[in-house]
Amino acid sequence: AAMRPSPWLDDLNPAQRQAVEALDGPVLMLAGAGTGKTKALTARIAHLMTTGRARPNEILAVTFTNKAAREMKDRVGRLLGQTVEGMPWLGTFHAICVKLLRRHAELVGLKSNFTILDTDDQQRLLKQLIVAENIDEKRWPPRMLAGLIDHWKNRAWTPQKVPASEASAFNHRGTELYDYYQRRLKELNAVDFGDLLLHMVTIFQDHPDVLEQYQRWFRYILVDEYQDTNVAQYLWLRLLAQSHKNICCVGDDDQSIYGWRGAEVGNILRFEKDFPGATVVRLEQNYRSTPHILAAASGVIDANQGRLGKTLWTAEEQGEKVRLIGHWDGDEEARWVGEEIESMAKGTRGMRSFSLDDMAILVRASHQMRAFEDRFLTIGLPYRVIGGPRFYERMEIRDAMAYFRLAVSPDDDLAFERIVNTPKRGLGDKAQQKIQIAARENGASLVDGARILLQDKGLGGKGAAELRVLVDGIARWHDAVRAGERSHIELAEVILDESGYTTFWQNEKSPEAPGRLENLKELVKALEGFENLQGFLEHVALIMDNESESEGAKVSIMTLHGAKGLEFPAVFLPGWEDGLFPSQRSMDESGLKGLEEERRLAYVGITRAEEVCTISFAANRRVYGQWQSALPSRFIDELPADHVEVLTPPGLYGGGYGAAGMAASASPQIMAESQSDLHDRASRADVYNSPGWRRLQERSQQRPMSQPRESRNMVVDAEAVSSFTEGDRVFHQKFGYGTVTGLEGDKVDVSFDKAGSKKLVGRFLVEAAQ
Ligand code: ATP
Ligand code: MG
Repeated sequence: AAMRPSPWLDDLNPAQRQAVEALDGPVLMLAGAGTGKTKALTARIAHLMTTGRARPNEILAVTFTNKAAREMKDRVGRLLGQTVEGMPWLGTFHAICVKLLRRHAELVGLKSNFTILDTDDQQRLLKQLIVAENIDEKRWPPRMLAGLIDHWKNRAWTPQKVPASEASAFNHRGTELYDYYQRRLKELNAVDFGDLLLHMVTIFQDHPDVLEQYQRWFRYILVDEYQDTNVAQYLWLRLLAQSHKNICCVGDDDQSIYGWRGAEVGNILRFEKDFPGATVVRLEQNYRSTPHILAAASGVIDANQGRLGKTLWTAEEQGEKVRLIGHWDGDEEARWVGEEIESMAKGTRGMRSFSLDDMAILVRASHQMRAFEDRFLTIGLPYRVIGGPRFYERMEIRDAMAYFRLAVSPDDDLAFERIVNTPKRGLGDKAQQKIQIAARENGASLVDGARILLQDKGLGGKGAAELRVLVDGIARWHDAVRAGERSHIELAEVILDESGYTTFWQNEKSPEAPGRLENLKELVKALEGFENLQGFLEHVALIMDNESESEGAKVSIMTLHGAKGLEFPAVFLPGWEDGLFPSQRSMDESGLKGLEEERRLAYVGITRAEEVCTISFAANRRVYGQWQSALPSRFIDELPADHVEVLTPPGLYGGGYGAAGMAASASPQIMAESQSDLHDRASRADVYNSPGWRRLQERSQQRPMSQPRESRNMVVDAEAVSSFTEGDRVFHQKFGYGTVTGLEGDKVDVSFDKAGSKKLVGRFLVEAAQ
């Protein structure tokens, strides 16, 4: 069939076309939200392929999430009118580096079947090191060391390269422990997340031949969301692009939101220095959002200093103003959002109707999700939680995965430790110690240590018999994995049965046992999408999006961080309160760095919306065990008044909507420049003077806080205890920030950053916003 020469170029604007057609040499696309950066990047991939510049497997394309990678692959396929066969190197930094590292593992002392540790494993391992070194783990919790090591790895510092200026870290033991930790990982044939990049950078730096091979192989390099790359990622890219310099990076400094994870927005600014003569493309037309939404977003981000500054305009219809609404508390906010979503689905108040798929709730902190989930379950509103490891973080899922890991690689000692006595096999601390010793003395893995111990009759009674069953089981499952005859799904079920793990939960009488069994079933279901267990384990280790399986339209719930790069016709942004958004931590910090990152997050949130953007806040919020009254977010003050409509919740307060926000403008095109006037802003005072807010206050006088507080607190207290887990960051009014180090009844052990270790009743603590 005759095809137009390059249909993927047709719907690009001239600047985008320039970025797509400048195939050779470095290209930097630096532009605001919704200007079609990702679209142009995708078109570039199609163009590279059809012009014969590169085969699909010679293109290295880095996206920020696995979801984004899938979408990009689909889009390229649609542009080319065919399914794209294998773009094996389109994925996240982590996914790509796992593949590369499996090929070259031996260069950093690993075997190619290395295990990827999750944060839980990582912390258990660190804890062992800390205890072995006789360091007070209450004062120097493993989580703190984990954070430190991550920080170093993000900067591509191996233990040998950690600069002297860091010598005092972790009570002067940081570098040394980091070194031990790296050695221990090697013994275990394991890596953590940070290692994936660190090892690849090391390999490329130490083995020029390997580097050269990939410099030749990856003829073209493309990177989306470049503003959020950290130093290690940056070095890795620079090494690969050094020879041919065919690298195209796209990003937006205003959307840099991973500074807390070591991202360096400076990487963007360095690009032109690293790659002199780069084609720099600026895109200014936003194709995503209405003028009101864009102006509101610009108004907020204007308050940041030191921006590169960009012009953004849109030709979209004026549309709805950004809607702002205050609620009594978090539950009412969730209730209102639920009702609003239902009525928007039907199409009310002169708006078109929206499919549930078109609506998203973007929260600042993941604990905000629960109120919405509870509410939506109650009213039967289908929803999905996108992004994040929640499902895979559950205890029973971790246990089951440990069994799978052992089936794939029996000398995964951390997995063995996790399940050796789960379910209970009468193998207490003593027995486990014997296994450890037998393993150490023979330089063997724990499974082999256990075998030796049994052979030498070093263990007796019920424990020995049970241990025998376990090690035999592991050997059998491993054989089955290797033989590859049985489907991995069947095998997973067999493993869970033969290990006694399923039976354990069946016999368990606790109220949560049925849910745990459901989750285990879900886990086996999740395996269906994969070829084998190893592929699945990798997927989980890389924390894929956790979308539920059922069909039909659903509202999406996710964090603002997880919403990067996405767009939805209608977006809800709840919880705009000081202390939640911006987070308390960013407000307590001296300097503006944290606050400015929060503001960029607000910019990311608003700019996800195409047609309707609804911002809300609650006057009171139950944060774990505590009621807190809150002020509307300072970012609300920064919303330009002309583009905001304050809503009164109908029904709840007997009010109706204020003047309808349907003031369609005569001019379809407005400029929302980054330097737009700063003086005309909706202020918190406007909100306080709004009828909705006044009614809210009247109501607060009618309903004294003390009464509902008490009755609710009783329920809350019980929850609060189980709400915390070891390693959680918490805040206490008197002692400040700290980390949970242990739990005991209704008491929580906390190691406070400034005040030292304390044992406290859970309800006096709140989870610190991320
Ligand atoms: P973000 O900064 O949020 O990642 P982005 O710059 O990557 O945004 P895209 O997601 O690529 O923007 O594009 C935003 C929307 O605009 C998409 O729906 C896209 O299809 C549309 N779009 C982009 N360019 C054009 C164009 N030239 N003509 C029509 N629509 C376009
Ligand atoms: Mg994008």
